[in-house]
Amino acid sequence: MSNEWNTRTKLVHSGSKRSQWNEVSEAIFLTQGFVYDTAEQAEARFIKAEPDEYIYARYGNPTVAMFEERMAAIEGCEDGFATASGMAAVNGALMAFLSAGDHVVGSRALFGSCLYILDEVLPRMGVEVTLVDGRDLDAWKAAIRADTKLVFFETISNPTLEVIDVTSVSAMAHEVGAIVVADNVFATPVYSQVIEQGVDIVVYSATKHIDGQGRALGGIILGSHELIRGKVEPYMKHTGGAMSPFTAWIMLKGLETMDLRVRAQSTTAAALAEALDGHPKLARLIYPGHASHPQNDLVMRQMGNGGTMLSMDVKGGKEAAFRALNALKIALISNNLGDAKTIATPPAATTHQRLPDDQKQLLGITPGLIRLSLGIEDSQDVITDILQALEHA
Ligand SMILES: *Cc1c(COP(=O)(O)O)cnc(C)c1O
Repeated sequence: MSNEWNTRTKLVHSGSKRSQWNEVSEAIFLTQGFVYDTAEQAEARFIKAEPDEYIYARYGNPTVAMFEERMAAIEGCEDGFATASGMAAVNGALMAFLSAGDHVVGSRALFGSCLYILDEVLPRMGVEVTLVDGRDLDAWKAAIRADTKLVFFETISNPTLEVIDVTSVSAMAHEVGAIVVADNVFATPVYSQVIEQGVDIVVYSATKHIDGQGRALGGIILGSHELIRGKVEPYMKHTGGAMSPFTAWIMLKGLETMDLRVRAQSTTAAALAEALDGHPKLARLIYPGHASHPQNDLVMRQMGNGGTMLSMDVKGGKEAAFRALNALKIALISNNLGDAKTIATPPAATTHQRLPDDQKQLLGITPGLIRLSLGIEDSQDVITDILQALEHA
């Protein structure tokens, strides 16, 4: 039945498990352990736990399972494993599948912590990593080899909003039998069709649009039952990256309103892109949903929407960008994204500060770049705020 529902209905109802009290709002099962009726039952459960049979909260918990089932339902896949943070999910999705001697191909434009795992941790473990310009299909083709084990990308990159052609890259990976892992945070579960487009494992930081109200860290790894229960669960449950039941409850509440929030946020992002198009204080405007973005056709085909994030490069570099940031009255200077509150971030000075200058230049992370995550405030108020701030640049 629940597979026939549309996303908005699934976001509110999928995965619900009611206790004997038949509560309306999802219960928080704030327990680390579960009692067995008999020693035989304990033994049987350790041999094989069936769905809705729990052992220990590091392995699974009813509130966490509700979140996992709801996420799998909206993503259109069989299963999921919830994690303590988005990075626990990225790390788990890679470590569960890779061994020393394996080869990985990844896109170069990545969130700083994702880049750290691909660039520093994996090579240290004896995994060979080739990074490519993710927009260039020829570069993917040249880098993917007969022995490539796994392909990793952010479907829309942070902070320069480059778009990966998910269908084409997945097809190339599958030709050599490689697993495709996509970090889909910027695309959001609302606009995601990546499972259909060929991705095997989808990763989200739930900290972003899923919570969407800046309360808790969380993440999830989604895919087929075989990959999640066969590979991901054993790695995650023994290495301790589990999501807490309280966090799962926050995320369930977040999911109820996610579609409404994300659509309002993207409407503001699109209207802001129109208002900023050709603005004299900007050297560059980057919004995938705007006709000026070189991959506008691709993003509309892939997601049907340009998303909630917009980046702009202020003329005059760091000083001008900082003057604009300091003049904001509604938008907050912070580094989360997908939040109900509009957030402005200077990536070169903050989230991507660690990158050497030549890497920043290669990725287009210029000193004047401001990344905006549009919130759910009144669109016109937010646009007015950003336009007045740019006057100070
Ligand atoms: C935030 C983010 C992460 C990490 O998520 P946390 O919940 O902060 O650990 C990973 N990938 C992308 C693209 C992100 O934006």
